[in-house]
Amino acid sequence: MRCIRLLDVLLLTAVLTGCSNTGTVFQDRFFALGTLIEVSIYGVDPALATRASAQIEQDLLTMHSNWHAWQPGALSITNEQLATLKPFTPDPAVLPLLQEAGRLSQLSNGLFNPAIGKLIALWGFHDNALPIGSIPDSNAITALVQQAPGVNNVTFTGTQLVNHNPAVSYDLGAFAKGYAIDRTIERLREFGIQNAIVNAGGDLRAIGQHGDRPWRIGIRHPRQKGILASIELAGDASVFTSGDYERFFEVDGKRYHHIIDPRSGWPANKTTSVTVIHDNAAMADAASTALFVAGPDDWIEIARNMHIELVMLIDTDGIIHMTPAMQSRISLEPDTDAEIRLSKPAS
Ligand code: AMP
Ligand code: MG
Repeated sequence: MRCIRLLDVLLLTAVLTGCSNTGTVFQDRFFALGTLIEVSIYGVDPALATRASAQIEQDLLTMHSNWHAWQPGALSITNEQLATLKPFTPDPAVLPLLQEAGRLSQLSNGLFNPAIGKLIALWGFHDNALPIGSIPDSNAITALVQQAPGVNNVTFTGTQLVNHNPAVSYDLGAFAKGYAIDRTIERLREFGIQNAIVNAGGDLRAIGQHGDRPWRIGIRHPRQKGILASIELAGDASVFTSGDYERFFEVDGKRYHHIIDPRSGWPANKTTSVTVIHDNAAMADAASTALFVAGPDDWIEIARNMHIELVMLIDTDGIIHMTPAMQSRISLEPDTDAEIRLSKPAS
C-alpha cells in the first residue's frame, strides 16, 4: 500500500492528485489493455483488495486479447467472418460489445464509427510502431470512405450477425477500454468494494469516495507538461479523454493522429482534446471520440444526442469550450490563460 506520487502519473491524461491518507488507499499497477492500469481501493482489508486487483488484472488481460483490433483473437476472427458476408454466430466475448458499440454509434450520428477498422489500418495505426514519414494514398482513403462502412451494414438477429458491406471491419479502440473498465467496476463490487478508481492510461471510472472526501483527479494539459484542470469525483463517474497527442506521427511537420473522421477518412482536424464525464465508462469513451470528431462547431449537438452533459473540448486554436455543467465542476489551473467559451447546456 502506498500513496500515489503525482510525478508518477503526470504522463497520463487523468491523474489522481494528492494523498493525505496514506494508510488507507490500496494501490496496484499492472499493464493491460496496452496501457498502465492503476487500481486504487479505499477502505477494505488489504488482503481483499489484493485479491480483487489480481482478479481484475486477469479479467483485463482476457478482454484485451478478445477485443484487440489487430492481434489474433475473438474480434479478429469476427472480422474474418464478417468479410464472408454470410450469417454467423460470433464469439460471445464480442457480441455484447458489437451491439453496444452499434447503439452508441447511432446516437453519435456515426462520428463514433467502430466499423472503420480498414481505414484505421490504412493509416498505419494497427501496429505498435507508427509509420514514419508517409501518409496513405488519398485515392485509397477516398475509396474506403465511398464504401461508407457503418454499423447499419451489420444485421443482428438474436446471436447471429450478417454483414452487407465488404468495407466493414470492427475496431473497438475508441470504446473497448470504457467497456472493460465498466466490467472491472462490476467485479470490484462483487468483492464488496464500494470506493475505488480504475485508471487505464488516464481514462478512469471512480466509485464511492476517498474516506470522508471525494476522489480528486487531474486532467492532463494536451500541449504542456502537467495538468490543465482538476475535478472532484464522488459517487460514480467516468472521466475519458480523447487527444491528438496519444498516437500520432508527423510528415513535413504536420501531425497525423489516430482519431479519424469517418466522413473524410482523414484525422479530425479541429480538435486537440475532449474530456467527457459520464457515469458509464463505455459511453464516456465512445462519446469522447465522437465529440472529438464533431469538433468545436458541432460537438454540442452530438453531446445532446448522446445525453452527455459534462464536456470540455480544446480546439486547435487552444480555445477551451465547455458546458456550463462542466464549468461548475472543474477547476482550471490558476495559470490557464486560454479563452473559455461556454456552450448552452447540453440537456
Ligand atoms: P479514443 O482514444 O477513445 O478516442 O480512441 C481512438 C481509437 O479509436 C483509435 O486509435 C482507433 O483505433 C479508433 N478510432 C479512430 N477514429 C475513430 C472513430 N471516428 N470512430 C470509432 N473509432 C475510431
Ligand atoms: Mg474513446
